Amino acid sequence: MIAEIKTLTDYKNCEKTLQNAIPCVGVGLHSGVKVRMVLRPAPIGHGIVFKRTDVSDKDNMIPVSENTVVDTRMCTCVGNKDGVTVGTIEHLMAALSGFGITNILIEVDNFEVPVMDGSASDFVTLIECAGVVKQDAPLKAIRILKEVSFDDGKGASVCLYPAEKDLSIDFMIDFKQSKAIGRQEYSIILSERSFKDAIAYARTFGFAQEVEMLRSMGLAKGGSLDNAVVVEGDKVLNKEGLRSENEFVVHKTLDAVGDLYQLGMPIIGHFSGVKSGHMHTNMLLKALMSDKSNYEIVNLDDYEEAALKSFRVSA
Ligand SMILES: [Zn+2]
Repeated sequence: MIAEIKTLTDYKNCEKTLQNAIPCVGVGLHSGVKVRMVLRPAPIGHGIVFKRTDVSDKDNMIPVSENTVVDTRMCTCVGNKDGVTVGTIEHLMAALSGFGITNILIEVDNFEVPVMDGSASDFVTLIECAGVVKQDAPLKAIRILKEVSFDDGKGASVCLYPAEKDLSIDFMIDFKQSKAIGRQEYSIILSERSFKDAIAYARTFGFAQEVEMLRSMGLAKGGSLDNAVVVEGDKVLNKEGLRSENEFVVHKTLDAVGDLYQLGMPIIGHFSGVKSGHMHTNMLLKALMSDKSNYEIVNLDDYEEAALKSFRVSA
């Protein structure tokens, strides 16, 4: 018998890119200036790469990985060996994760991705307008084999656990200083559908006094009630209110989805975040990748087929 050669249509899970390039313009959260961004298709094996089109005297290409993250204080920021950086990538990264896009070139003419409305909704629209195409290469996934965790010793922690399939996430926040937020919990099994329907809409948030402080430091210049939920004491200042009762914890989940995608491939496992932020998730990924016995890279089609067979045998 001749061995079967898999073709594009045989892959259930394959690498993906955009069908067409798509431009957009928005404001940088910290710079407050207009940023032009173009999302461009990229070939198999390319990965997620940013290009700073305003930089010509240095290396302006910045591939995304857990090791190219250079700052996690206000946002997730990636950089290259020449010190060229791009920040506020996390909501766009979440949208790329939601659609399973593995290969893309993202051109920006400033040091941050436009903040849009503070959620991933506009990035979802952009990607849908550009179209998503399958590429003729099987999709690889990273399967968690051992529990890996990171605890900052100050009450925030993150953990990845083994699971049979999918990436499931649970998140807990507890803001005792504001009744508007309080304690919230959220769980989701990540898929394109659940990403678009359940979490893409959730906006970033901050406290009014923090916004003042950031402004005095020359940061958050582009931040406004148009691109963030702003909380003062026990009140939400945005006239339109919240998009959902639990928008805060859903946004934290969105951030986690974006940050976990620094690996550039789907995760088979369970993620749990407790009061955590960008730094914690990045430290967790570095801990995960530092020991090869923590994970295995699988061809997702083969893995799902084998899992299905073992289920049939055991049932
Ligand atoms: Zn965020």
